[in-house]
Amino acid sequence: MQYVSTRGRAPALDFEGVTLAGLASDGGLYLPAEWPRFTADEIRGMRGLAYPDLATRVMAPFVAGSLTDDELLAICHKVYGDFGHAAVTPLVQLDQQHWLLELFHGPTLAFKDVALQLLGRLFETFLARRDQRLTIVGATSGDTGSAAIHAVAGLERVEIFMLHPKGRVSDVQRRQMTTVLSPNVHNLAIEGSFDDAQAHVKRMFTDADVTSVLNLGAVNSINWARLMAQVVYYFASALQLGAPDRTVAYSVPTGNFGDVFAGYVAQQMGLPIERLIVATNINDILHRALSQGDYAADGVTPTITPSMDIQVSSNFERLLFDAGGRDGAALAAQMHAFEDTKAMHLTNTQREGAGALFASARADQTETARALQWAHLAAGQVIDPHTGVGLHAARALADAGTIPAHVPLVTLATAHPAKFPDAVERAVGMRPALPARVGDLFGREESLVELAGDYATTRDYVLGHAGNA
Ligand SMILES: *Cc1c(COP(=O)(O)O)cnc(C)c1O
Repeated sequence: MQYVSTRGRAPALDFEGVTLAGLASDGGLYLPAEWPRFTADEIRGMRGLAYPDLATRVMAPFVAGSLTDDELLAICHKVYGDFGHAAVTPLVQLDQQHWLLELFHGPTLAFKDVALQLLGRLFETFLARRDQRLTIVGATSGDTGSAAIHAVAGLERVEIFMLHPKGRVSDVQRRQMTTVLSPNVHNLAIEGSFDDAQAHVKRMFTDADVTSVLNLGAVNSINWARLMAQVVYYFASALQLGAPDRTVAYSVPTGNFGDVFAGYVAQQMGLPIERLIVATNINDILHRALSQGDYAADGVTPTITPSMDIQVSSNFERLLFDAGGRDGAALAAQMHAFEDTKAMHLTNTQREGAGALFASARADQTETARALQWAHLAAGQVIDPHTGVGLHAARALADAGTIPAHVPLVTLATAHPAKFPDAVERAVGMRPALPARVGDLFGREESLVELAGDYATTRDYVLGHAGNA
């Protein structure tokens, strides 16, 4: 499989190349040169497969030429054999129409584990082949950092420096990072805000003093391999609900548009998806773009769903490219104009292409809390606030008739409620407990270094400690 950039100028790469590259050299994002497609019979033949076997079937076309089916299968068994639920991503029924797809049974209790655990193994495999090492530098305000650390802890050829704003992540989030004591994991608590930490990371990627000695890598959701891994659970859940002989709809709590774009990919591959609901909190740039064609950045307001507090959605570019007719030069011009003015209008082709499959809705804090209460009272399920945003959107669009009553409607449960205990307690009056498998989080030793807020201090620390793992 060959991959092309959304901006049309970077060289085409194979799967190994795009996994290690992340962002394309022209500033664009990689996508497969064409979508692999399964027939209805092929999809029917996937019924009943265990998750690692299903994952191998779904992902095999994307990795062709870089991994054999046997290599992929061995990786999938290793990665998904360690999840806290034998089904990996189990479905839970809420009422006649509504379902939850639990994506939080990985080590850090959020859906990002499903993809990052795989990415860590892919890095290790490809780096061994090339006899290279990789130094991952990232900044986190919470979820991504812990999932990335757990994905690479103990790997031989990868080390990670994860910056977080000192004192500004929750205790659970910090401990999920700092209690991983592998020598290849470095937690840096930086004075200042998340944006300051993020700025240090960006600067390191363009600082020749760093890039001349270290092979730097990133793990953010623009990496194609992460999206690919997320396609699998759309297949797993739709198959259980009767696909390909019945259509299924999804509601996806959305931030950077990675998770919901994976649903779009599943549909391109032949999975009969009725609708994908893009559910946003009050930071609703995507809802405005999909409902009015108007994509305009507008500052970020902090909410009880911090993983969806985004100003712009990096993966939206992939949809604009694919739904807009795959014209890299035109998209590059559109994106450059957006970078200057922080606003753009979708073309008619882009709006029609997106409108055929996507619907959208937003939830404010009151609506989110009410969705948590409904899940608790009507179905006995304690859900996290991000999932609550998705459930609110699902119920609103089912009530409005956008999703017909006979179509099963699956809300992606993106985090375990115990990751956000304060907001959950305020909504439903009880404090969710951490699952037993992470239960001693508060008894474990922590490892982190505290650094002053200036760039040079962070850079010198990374340079001084890299390669010692
Ligand atoms: C990252 C995250 C999201 C948003 O997912 P995207 O792929 O960025 O759209 C939603 N919920 C939780 C809990 C997350 O960690």
